[in-house]
Amino acid sequence: MADLALSDYRRLVVKVGSSLLVDNAGRLNRDWLETLAEDIANFQADGHQALIVSSGAIAIGSSVLGINKKRARLEDLQAAAAAGQVQLVHAYQEALAGYGITAAQILLTPDDTENRRRFLNARGTLGRLLDQSVIPIVNENDTVATEEIRYGDNDRLAARVAQLLMADALVLLSDVDGFYTDDPGTNAAAEHIPEVTTITPQMLAMAGETRSDIGSGGMATKVQAARIATHAGCSTIIASGAIEHPLRALSTGGRCTLFRAEGTPAAARKQWLAGVLELRGEIRIDDGAARALRNGNSLLPVGVVEVIGNFRRGDAVAVVGPDGLEVGRGLTEYSDADALRLRGCQSEQIEERLGYRGRSVMIHRDELVLFDNDS
Ligand code: GLU
Repeated sequence: MADLALSDYRRLVVKVGSSLLVDNAGRLNRDWLETLAEDIANFQADGHQALIVSSGAIAIGSSVLGINKKRARLEDLQAAAAAGQVQLVHAYQEALAGYGITAAQILLTPDDTENRRRFLNARGTLGRLLDQSVIPIVNENDTVATEEIRYGDNDRLAARVAQLLMADALVLLSDVDGFYTDDPGTNAAAEHIPEVTTITPQMLAMAGETRSDIGSGGMATKVQAARIATHAGCSTIIASGAIEHPLRALSTGGRCTLFRAEGTPAAARKQWLAGVLELRGEIRIDDGAARALRNGNSLLPVGVVEVIGNFRRGDAVAVVGPDGLEVGRGLTEYSDADALRLRGCQSEQIEERLGYRGRSVMIHRDELVLFDNDS
């Protein structure tokens, strides 16, 4: 049994598979949702943050619109997603409200997590919601996504969200209680593996193409999700949600597979940033700003003295101190033209200088790696 205490984690992403929420007739399992909401409320009350990535829109909407999922065309499924999503989020909203928690809906496309400009927006909004103790309910924006621009399964979406938010745990709840050496549905000799430290190509092959009828993810997408998340410093847990209080069950020894993260989310993010080769420009800062960065703060426009190069929001730039040495590098919240306009300005003057309401920082501390005293 893996030694698992959810209370060890600060920021948790919980992925809920369709088969847990919706039965074959497309009815929502509200009783189960209540128990999940209670678990989330307890986790939050202990000072942690949680976010839910939930499937189920297409399954609910197909039943509402009388669409046969097996024969449906893409536009049928997209229409189903549109009709189902409002009911799905409403169910979460009601269940969480029972514990005094506000829910918020976030619909994402791969561009929002893979494209650095958009990534900064999604990260900013989700971070703000979590700071307000709101529970974001995330799903893929199925109504506009087409085959070529879809995550396709919410396992991968959940892993990308975990990476984006520097979450330290991702729980994939579905109808399977962990990773097995083979499909336990067809091979009685398949063995359950409680803990994985390295995901090997053999494991990806072993995960095969097992699929459930209701959702679109199988074991393969879960292992791929675990690979993305663990590389980002986020431990991943595959567990059964086909029981009441699925999160509480994990902390009391419930069966699952734990994929241990490699390092911490902060270390993974900084390592990635340090390795970004393509620097698009340079932001020169004053002494006060250099000190503030070393104290763990973000770079504010007030500390910027010079802007060099052509860059866009989300590009990697070098941050150079008054002595001409590179202090570090990071992802800029502003283009070179806007950074120049904001040079030396107080955060309250940003809107006046730009003519629109911008971000309060030039480079957020999470998107900044410092040289010398940074690990
Ligand atoms: N986004 C889809 C839905 O809400 C589910 C995708 C999946 O099953 O992974 O219906």
